[in-house]
Amino acid sequence: MTAALDRLKTCLLFSHVSPKLTKCSSATCTLTTSVMWMPFGLVAGVAGATPRYIFMARQAAKPELGTKAFVEGLKKAYAWDITGRAGAWPDAGGRLIAHEFDYKKPGQVVYEKNGVRIISFPAIHKLDGSVSYRLDWKGLSFVFGGDSVPNKWFIKYAKGADVVVHECIYTPEQMNNFYGWNNMRTATYVAAYIHTPPSAFGKIMSEVKPRMAVAYHAILLPELLQDSTEQIRSTYDGPLTIASDLFVWNVNKDNITVREAVVGDRVYPPPAGPEWGRAKRTGAAKVSEEIMKGWWEGYKPPPLPKQ
Ligand SMILES: [Zn+2]
Repeated sequence: MTAALDRLKTCLLFSHVSPKLTKCSSATCTLTTSVMWMPFGLVAGVAGATPRYIFMARQAAKPELGTKAFVEGLKKAYAWDITGRAGAWPDAGGRLIAHEFDYKKPGQVVYEKNGVRIISFPAIHKLDGSVSYRLDWKGLSFVFGGDSVPNKWFIKYAKGADVVVHECIYTPEQMNNFYGWNNMRTATYVAAYIHTPPSAFGKIMSEVKPRMAVAYHAILLPELLQDSTEQIRSTYDGPLTIASDLFVWNVNKDNITVREAVVGDRVYPPPAGPEWGRAKRTGAAKVSEEIMKGWWEGYKPPPLPKQ
């Protein structure tokens, strides 16, 4: 169970797009892509009993652009809500703690616990700070590329991995037409100088030779998808998934099965458990006397139990 939780944490924290672990056994690791911005995954934990640690917070060229600054900004944005939980919810639940690592170091270990080992390496995007990750666990490996133009570190560290995810954006022409930009300079810069167009994605995968290549970051319009697929196939003929939200890959030593998850329309949090009930609570959020005067005398709440 602890190992499963560790893997859940590590998977939640990949780059700015987070694959979400839905099921794990010793022989099979199932990942779903849920294009979920990291903050929402973390803020959802505000009511928890323990602090949320961000193990893989990357630095940037300037401190104010790094994940630590991002987390501090997030706490400011949620200040009213976090302050309003004092006394009722556990103190630790609202704490987010970021441990930054140097984005420039290729191949450094940024997480190692219970057999899960994660290394990071730089990616080349619009500013310094974009990174990619490789996760190794029980002889299986998973690589997740941050937004990047094709780079030498990805070729080196992704080589031979089981599941290799890399972005695959439009061609400059597709981008210019789809958004109606009428500006081929911007379209070419965005598609081919800070991202990876489809034929280049195929070239990378032909070098890396994964058991499953996964492309993301494309608008999946049928007419664009057909064109992009043909361009990927002009440079790569191996196993390929063009990912959509909620795709699932079941991976073991023999097979990789690609499926699409069906999820409930209503998703509720799991029960909090006894640890949550016992966790330390200090302070007491209060409404001012002036505002309390508005309490309608026709309403009488049940007596408040003692702590
Ligand atoms: Zn992007």
